[in-house]
Amino acid sequence: MLDNLTQRLAKVVKTMRGEARLTEANTAEMLREVRLALLEADVALPAVREFIGKVKEKALGEEVLSSLTPGQALVGVVQRELGALMGADLGPEATQLSFAQQPPAIILMAGLQGVGKTTTVGKLAKYLREEKKKKVLTVSADVYRPAAIAQLQSVTGQVGADFFPSTAQDKPVDIALAALDWAKKHYHDVLIIDTAGRLGVDEEMMKEIAAVHGAVKPVETLFVVDAMLGQDAINTAKAFNDALPLTGIVLTKLDGDSRGGAALSVRHITGKPIKFAGVSEKLDGLEAFDPTRMASRILG
Ligand code: GDP
Repeated sequence: MLDNLTQRLAKVVKTMRGEARLTEANTAEMLREVRLALLEADVALPAVREFIGKVKEKALGEEVLSSLTPGQALVGVVQRELGALMGADLGPEATQLSFAQQPPAIILMAGLQGVGKTTTVGKLAKYLREEKKKKVLTVSADVYRPAAIAQLQSVTGQVGADFFPSTAQDKPVDIALAALDWAKKHYHDVLIIDTAGRLGVDEEMMKEIAAVHGAVKPVETLFVVDAMLGQDAINTAKAFNDALPLTGIVLTKLDGDSRGGAALSVRHITGKPIKFAGVSEKLDGLEAFDPTRMASRILG
């Protein structure tokens, strides 16, 4: 078992007791431990660097209260800064979904295959129906995998929302427009559009989802990312962030044993709020994202 960060810093600062502030020297040594903790949590290097830089700036010269060691003081700074980066300063509204002034509000889901997009559509539909009393329609624009369309139909049925059928012969933009038309005619409050996910980022897929976005102008474009994803999270997030005006992030599989460093990497690249966390395979496994809890988890 690895020591947690507080214990590790305590070891570093054993020799520093009595020092009244965080100095260049004692901070540098401790920041090496923080850096290691973040890398162990699979945070991508550019995100680690930026974070360490911020902490260093904030920490230097910070008074260490008499009851604290410099190590504890630095942990305090690190926790505060990481919490802020995760979105703690944005307030709870940051995790709320926006709804269009004129229904239906369109939610477009983006992300690689296997990250949990379709499951998340089911979870969101359930949440919107039960908590927000919305009439929800779902549609799949994944024309490459008929199984994906069937999967969406199944999860939509399980949560009692409406499903707009599509086929592999249709074009994604046409599917999205037809579903929107149907949603308007049947007074749905929300239309959730699931999209194709490839195993890796490819240009055609980005063009396709950008075209769907342009055609229906969603009020929410959610990037779904797997918390188990390591260093790769940053490249994927960059590709989707460049291709689409994302409005938020859903971090899935937080019930796994990863420390979830992907959260920091994705925030670093997109700056967009993480709105929800997926915490189980089941359709009730969706929570509002908690920035402070995430910060503690990443620090280990
Ligand atoms: P998609 O290809 O992005 O649509 O991904 P799916 O929705 O098909 O999910 C891929 C796998 O991840 C499935 O086995 C899901 O049950 C699983 N999954 C999705 N979200 C979560 C989650 O929050 N926790 C866990 N443990 N598994 C999840």
